[in-house]
Amino acid sequence: MASDPAGTNRAGRSSERYEDPPRLRSFKWAATRSRLLAASSDDATGRSAWFGGPVEGYFPRMPRQSDGDQPTGAAPWIPGAAGLDRLRSAAQDCRGCELYEDATQAVLGEGSPDAKVVFVGEQPGDQEDRQGRPFVGPAGRLLDQALDDVGINRDDAFITNAVKHFRFSRDARSKRRIHKTPDVAHIKACRPWLDAELALTNPNVVVALGATAGRMLLGPSYRVTKQRGQRLELDDGTPAIGTVHPSAVLRAKDRETAYAAFVADLEVVASMAR
Ligand code: SF4
Repeated sequence: MASDPAGTNRAGRSSERYEDPPRLRSFKWAATRSRLLAASSDDATGRSAWFGGPVEGYFPRMPRQSDGDQPTGAAPWIPGAAGLDRLRSAAQDCRGCELYEDATQAVLGEGSPDAKVVFVGEQPGDQEDRQGRPFVGPAGRLLDQALDDVGINRDDAFITNAVKHFRFSRDARSKRRIHKTPDVAHIKACRPWLDAELALTNPNVVVALGATAGRMLLGPSYRVTKQRGQRLELDDGTPAIGTVHPSAVLRAKDRETAYAAFVADLEVVASMAR
């Protein structure tokens, strides 16, 4: 489901840089939060001042791509007056990249709006795409078990993904949908949804699950194999930490050892969240 711990996708390609410069990212996040909060509190009708003027509801649908093969990006579809529910429904209209075309639905995060911990995975899998909920497949069940083991209450957590639509290829014979790692362009295009989720939840700690989320949140030099379990920070100073994606634990040859290491990382998370 996720990139492997070494930071390469299944085609063997290395992840590339896809983020804005740190200062710009930090500024954009702060701006996103203030816009969302201002719009949420200022106007109960759903009208917003997003992008400088009153707009009814969401932006209308826009062309899927701006030019060539470059995705437009999700920003035009981020609603101005947004709680998490409104964000979730707005994402169904997103045409910020081409991934919406084959997926069933956009899958946004789930959990407490007052979450102390936000977990960020890579993208929805087959089950998540069908059910419209994140981490409901085998990897989600393993994460639930590990959270339970370290005493993190699911009510104190918010669980989401870096990319909101399922990217897959179809097996020619079985027609089964095979997970395909999102490209840098997809991750970059989808970033505004994650920024909006983080702005609304404002957690004590953000946890990157796997290499894709790790490099998105912690920078292109982040290596999950070397830095997992370390106390780090996002560009805006929010405490953060990376570990493997739970699907990597499921794929491990020695699953018991891999699970123990995963739980050890989550124990650090639990101490940071307090
Ligand atoms: S993957 Fe993200 S940017 Fe692309 S269409 Fe879906 S929600 Fe929009």
